[in-house]
Amino acid sequence: MVQSSSDDLYTILELDSRYYGFLDLTDPKNNGIKDLIQQTITVLQDEVASSHSISIIKQRDGQQANVKSDGSIKYEEHIKENSGTLESNIKDSKLSVSNEITTKGNLGIGEVDINTYCKLGHLHLLLSEYYEALSAYQKYMRLCEKYWNNHSFIYGLGIVYFEFRCFKWSIKLFQELLYLNPYFICANEAHLRLGLMLKVNGDFRSALKHLQLALADASRSTFSDLQVKFQIAHLYEVQNKHKAAKESYEFILNDKNISLDLKADIYRQLGWMYHCVECLGEKKERESNALRFLQKSIEADPKCGQSLYLLGRCYAGVNKVHDAFLAYRNSVEKSEGNADTWCSIGVLYQQQNQPTDALQAYICAVQLDKEHRSAWTNLGILYESCGQLRDAYACYLNAVKQISNQKINIAREGSKPILFTSSTNGLTKGILQRVKFLETQLNQAPLPSITSKRRQLCSIEEAWNLPISLEINSRQQQNVQMQHRQYGKNSSVQGPPPPYPHGSQNNPTPAKRAKDDTEMSEINLSEQREINTPQLTQQNQRVFNVQKEKFGPQLTTSYRQPLNDSMSSLGTSVTHGDQSLNACNQNILTELVEDHNESSAHNDDSKTPINYESLTQINDYSQNMQKTKIEYDQDPDASPTFNIQMESKQLWSAVQLLPVHEPPISYTVLLRSAPPPAPPDCPPQKLSREQLLPPTPSVHLENKKNAFSPQLQEFCLKHPIAVVRGLAGALKLDLGLFSTKTLVEANPDHSVEVRTQVNQSPDENWDISQAKRVWACISHRSHTTIAKYAQYQASSFQDSLKDEGDKGSAGSQVMSDSDSKDSVSNSNINLKRKKPKNGSKMLRFGTNVDLSDERKWKPQLSELQKLPAFARVISAANMLSHVGHVILGMNTVQLYMKVPGSRTPGHQENNNFCSININIGPGDCEWFAVPDSYWGGIHNLCEKNNISYLHGSWWPVLEDLYKENIPVYRFIQKPGDLVWVNAGCVHWVQSVGWCNNIAWNVGPLTARQYSLAIERYEWNKLQSFKSIVPMVHLSWNLARNIKVSDVKLFELIKMCLCQSLKNVFHIQEYVKSKGVEIRFNGRGKNEASHYCGQCEVEVFNVLFIREQEKRHVVHCLPCVLKLSPSLQGIVCLEEYRLSELEHVYDSFTLYRTQGLGQSH
Ligand SMILES: [Zn+2]
Repeated sequence: MVQSSSDDLYTILELDSRYYGFLDLTDPKNNGIKDLIQQTITVLQDEVASSHSISIIKQRDGQQANVKSDGSIKYEEHIKENSGTLESNIKDSKLSVSNEITTKGNLGIGEVDINTYCKLGHLHLLLSEYYEALSAYQKYMRLCEKYWNNHSFIYGLGIVYFEFRCFKWSIKLFQELLYLNPYFICANEAHLRLGLMLKVNGDFRSALKHLQLALADASRSTFSDLQVKFQIAHLYEVQNKHKAAKESYEFILNDKNISLDLKADIYRQLGWMYHCVECLGEKKERESNALRFLQKSIEADPKCGQSLYLLGRCYAGVNKVHDAFLAYRNSVEKSEGNADTWCSIGVLYQQQNQPTDALQAYICAVQLDKEHRSAWTNLGILYESCGQLRDAYACYLNAVKQISNQKINIAREGSKPILFTSSTNGLTKGILQRVKFLETQLNQAPLPSITSKRRQLCSIEEAWNLPISLEINSRQQQNVQMQHRQYGKNSSVQGPPPPYPHGSQNNPTPAKRAKDDTEMSEINLSEQREINTPQLTQQNQRVFNVQKEKFGPQLTTSYRQPLNDSMSSLGTSVTHGDQSLNACNQNILTELVEDHNESSAHNDDSKTPINYESLTQINDYSQNMQKTKIEYDQDPDASPTFNIQMESKQLWSAVQLLPVHEPPISYTVLLRSAPPPAPPDCPPQKLSREQLLPPTPSVHLENKKNAFSPQLQEFCLKHPIAVVRGLAGALKLDLGLFSTKTLVEANPDHSVEVRTQVNQSPDENWDISQAKRVWACISHRSHTTIAKYAQYQASSFQDSLKDEGDKGSAGSQVMSDSDSKDSVSNSNINLKRKKPKNGSKMLRFGTNVDLSDERKWKPQLSELQKLPAFARVISAANMLSHVGHVILGMNTVQLYMKVPGSRTPGHQENNNFCSININIGPGDCEWFAVPDSYWGGIHNLCEKNNISYLHGSWWPVLEDLYKENIPVYRFIQKPGDLVWVNAGCVHWVQSVGWCNNIAWNVGPLTARQYSLAIERYEWNKLQSFKSIVPMVHLSWNLARNIKVSDVKLFELIKMCLCQSLKNVFHIQEYVKSKGVEIRFNGRGKNEASHYCGQCEVEVFNVLFIREQEKRHVVHCLPCVLKLSPSLQGIVCLEEYRLSELEHVYDSFTLYRTQGLGQSH
């Protein structure tokens, strides 16, 4: 038994994930702590082991109850025995109290307190023993009912996943952490990592937000401001905002405190940008700048193989072959195992007409990275140029396979998408052509005979298997052996050869890959494997050095290949490596699972990592996450409790019992004990093919009376989506007021947002190379005016008339004559359609035309008064009319101007509100819709396709939905038809003909609408996505303005008021405890509600503003505390007097209507 002093115990109690990155255990100074941690781990492991054997004995003896684990002294007891006066100390410590939540482990694994597993996780994490940490944390998570109450656990597990590059789960955990506790002491570390991961995922907007939040945070951190600024500059670079990136890089270089490493990184980025980016000047000048900067980079960090490689590329670009070879060679010395370098060496040899050397270099590249598309392509070109068609064919097939494996990574900046792989378009087509060509050639060719003329190069099979270059190979062997040493695995270095067309000559079907995917992933894992190398880095450099080593080109040292460099037509040019930024992140998850399985299965020597939880259960995590749904239950442990039965005075008294010298930890409008929001599972019922294509609920209106009947509203509210046919006719609406002609006459210079999109048929969405169906949808944003768009719309129509005249065909308006009552008939019609041959034809969609200004659009807006109340823009029964200010496009009208093929990508409405959409005509629109209960399924599919559900632009592949048992409504909206989109319904729309649409949102006063809006409000908060409906502000207005007789709706609104009032009380007490005065500010008429300028969360009633800033930016409390922990220099303003809020809260009671008085 380890004898521990009370100091040691204090230290151990104190240590958890929050010290990760701050406590450098490789520093000899910390050897004492390191020993202590290792000893403690041993003690805890003994405890786990003996309790495990006890539980086995228990089972065997059938003694179920009352067996004490005498064999081991429980760690907790041990601490208690020795701690004595420690407890009071611990309570004072800021770090230790807040999050160490003791949950009683009553789950029957021996007698081990489940917190033991959490502690083990923390301690292993501090030792950088990630496998063990993961295993212990997972065990804890499985046993802990409410893991979300333990914030340092969430943080620790998030770090572990980050280190494993399991970005999906790491992101999820960090988001949850920041949602649950924005004051968490390592919030800045979480923000930084979120920024890095979201950057890799292509969600640039969110990435920027998190990096800025990390930067704004003044608390201690493992990274410097300059390093974050570098990441932000790099974020600009990957978005092709070259000028902004260049300026940001240069700005950082001017800082005196810049480190050598960072200098090297920046010079490298700048150098490569000068090489690639045309807008940065004349070619000659750019080339010399590029060389200069890359040399500076190498000066600053002579060990950087990446810079040397890029220098080689630049030399090769200006034809300095010798210098290029030299640089490549140096690069190989520094960073062996870089497939890009070998590929470029191959290119250089090939250009020098040295095919054998080129072959060797390419083989090196593809052996290092079997998915290296450029190297496979170049090999193909090389073989073809030597007349070895079979080998060329095999190589091209591999390249093609990599292309189809590659996902298109689209991300949006604002709503502007960026397509990473646009550069591959021409290349892909070129290779596909070559494959086709060679197939025919090989078919016709005579059987190859051994005696035929000598080949110039050895075949791809021979090349793959022979040790072709001693130097190359030995280096490679070393490299792989190193990896294997770290992994304790022995497998052959080279493995079987690449796929080779073995089929009969008459039918050259592409052979399947000889290697299975697990072996494929080995190479990819090389980066992850470095996890086990000791981190010999300075304390405060840790995060960045770690990711520099591991993320390689993905994060810090990321560079992008020139788009034009390698893209001339195939056959004449050779391509360098141009692995896109995100390519490697797709399979991390599966790889990791496989890998864990292997490591736990194969290792049985004494150095086996300890498994607290079989890692094959890695999937349990997601199950754990999903079983927790939003529940409005009370947490018995949360004291004092708050409930909606309490009056405001009671609430106030209860708040006084809280630790008001600390900020309110939970700022959700849901109950504090609720788990963090998560997308729901899809309904489990298995649907038949017919149920997957349900008929669309539709009604046909004969007259005005129909339109105003309460049954119509009931009908709409009952279905996820409904189409009301003939509405305009029944109400005698003058749709002409919204025709392009009238709009141009009224306001020709009015602004129109334009989306440039690819023209394709409605049920298809192809990637840019036309090779694959994808979810990511291209939609570039720009602006124009109504008059100019009208011109485009008209000329597009004229052109098509001309085309049709030329062809004498019936035109594409096949759909117009079918009144689609059900979607089955629609899909039949669509089967006749052909895949567009000229898929790259672009179109422009005029969207989000703002018709809110009553002076400009009076006739149009007053025409809409003819609508029945439930569909009107403004009505007392519409929640959005109670917001008290304009939310553009939601409680005001927006107009859409379309040509055929204009797409509104998949989405739910803001905060899940309902929407009204009327087709003005003359053409039709086609709609696709999925009931709200399935949104979690669509969310997961977006994630699978690497697109952000909230920020991204996506067009679902219908077959993917059907496979996931997700039903899709599909119907045509004709001119004069109104589409009702119910709360939360996921939908996407494409115009069939030329038409305009008008749309806005409504919020029926129902419990369903309100709860879906609140749920999305919370989900948005977790996702750092701005909720443009300020739900707290709205709830207070609803309480002021309306009487609620629906019990459920009443309780939901009252709950929101209760949480919000409690929060206001708490914040005010807290602010006072800091000695800051709260000034009454009031609210102007129609004043917009406030959002935090940093994190975009709604700020209700208590606003924080920096005294010295000229521009008054409102902050939320968590953000302002990061700027100024003492609230010094901060002005605190109040929008409503407490007495007013108390009055509103107390007066808001359930309205009992006559006759229904007893309803409960
Ligand atoms: Zn904020």
